[in-house]
Amino acid sequence: MEHAAVLIVGAGGLGAPVAHILQRAGVGSLTLVDPDRVEEENLHRQILYRDADIGRPKAEVAASRVGAQAQVMRLDEHNGPELVRRHACVVDGTDSFRMKFLLNDLCLEAGVPLVHAAAARFQGQVLLVRPGGPCLRCLLPEPPDADTDECSRTGIFGPAAGAVAALAAAEALRALQGVSEPSQLLLVHLGTGRLDRTRLRALPGCRCAAATDALRAPA
Ligand SMILES: [Zn+2]
Repeated sequence: MEHAAVLIVGAGGLGAPVAHILQRAGVGSLTLVDPDRVEEENLHRQILYRDADIGRPKAEVAASRVGAQAQVMRLDEHNGPELVRRHACVVDGTDSFRMKFLLNDLCLEAGVPLVHAAAARFQGQVLLVRPGGPCLRCLLPEPPDADTDECSRTGIFGPAAGAVAALAAAEALRALQGVSEPSQLLLVHLGTGRLDRTRLRALPGCRCAAATDALRAPA
């Protein structure tokens, strides 16, 4: 675990605590990517930040607190492939559908396990996508038209962010340990205390199958 490198995309209410947990768990190298700055309105659920951090780049502040490397930039299709390939696991802590689908595709192409984390109101979802799938597109083939920016529209109950971050970190650790189970979706509801697990089914013709074939093909 001390030689494992994990890429965390989004250093907000999910990504920052995931980084904290993984660092405490002994993950050797963490990279935090986020283009945004700390804002006053989300301090209540972004537990690594304090009032004095307002206005500073989230990735830098969070990285300094957990001994990670910071990349203050927006990950995209140009800078993403190389960054993903340099890591043994990727955690998506963003609230952007576009970013979730981009990371899904980049990780499938690179054969790197990916943990999607999302929270809104009292609910959270954690989706572990293994190389070869099934993947996010097996659940939802294309991103919704508008990027709804779910969490700034609906808000997040603070403990829901913490619960999702802990589950996402645990899934990342399982992926790093090579636990070979199919991709799975965890749903947590803080209003009822329920936690459900669903095995993902591959959608026939999904790109995750093609990506697996490409990875298996001799060079
Ligand atoms: Zn798929």
